[in-house]
Amino acid sequence: MIKLKSSKEIQLMREAGKIVAEVLQQIEKGIDIGVTTAKLDSIAEKYIRKRGAEPAFLGYNNFPASICASINNEVVHGIPGLRRLKEGDIISIDVGVRRKGYYGDAAATFAVGKITEKAHKLIDVTRTSLHKAIAEMQSGKRLSDVSHAVQAYVEKNSMSVVRNYVGHGIGEQMHEEPQVPNFGLAGRGPILQQGIVLAIEPMVNAGSWEVEVLDDQWTVVTSDGSLSAHFEHTVALGENGPEILTSNGLS
Ligand code: MG
Repeated sequence: MIKLKSSKEIQLMREAGKIVAEVLQQIEKGIDIGVTTAKLDSIAEKYIRKRGAEPAFLGYNNFPASICASINNEVVHGIPGLRRLKEGDIISIDVGVRRKGYYGDAAATFAVGKITEKAHKLIDVTRTSLHKAIAEMQSGKRLSDVSHAVQAYVEKNSMSVVRNYVGHGIGEQMHEEPQVPNFGLAGRGPILQQGIVLAIEPMVNAGSWEVEVLDDQWTVVTSDGSLSAHFEHTVALGENGPEILTSNGLS
């Protein structure tokens, strides 16, 4: 069942979302050649707690950190550790927080130093596909209009959309119904109405869409070794259309 949120609930989610946005801004400042992903995780956890919230990922299904940090061919769910960022890397950071019983969730992919044109294009296409999807989040449209917008834009740019992982409803739980795939035909699924809140999160590969999970049981990588990018926002459908609750000036 899709739980529609009241304006009071959306206000609480706006506050959680603002903290998520600020964490991504802090991480952007911390990203540099030679920095470990564990350091970025520590920046995130400290900031979240300072703002009176809890890191939503820490301990979730025993995940050991407050952010997911996924580099280059890693798609999502990378575990922060002692790996140091190198010039030319791209790094996807996913972060969730819980505050006053409500969740916010967002992700962005960042460049480390100078990156290739191909990597730039992947980041741009992924970010834009998220905004194409958000634009479809209008009362009376259907859920798969959102999904289709991502796939259509990404494939037009000769890249591919990951199938095995999808976006989700969000609210008092980090993952609520409905699932929000980044692919599919338009015009299917539930009709969108005011009060729905979705975490829309395209994961886009420069090569094929197939992925696998590493032996650490978390890190998802592209099967063909190609680069992958990930952007996500928590978005509420209000009276005046979609409102990005995790708006951060980065994406
Ligand atoms: Mg998410």
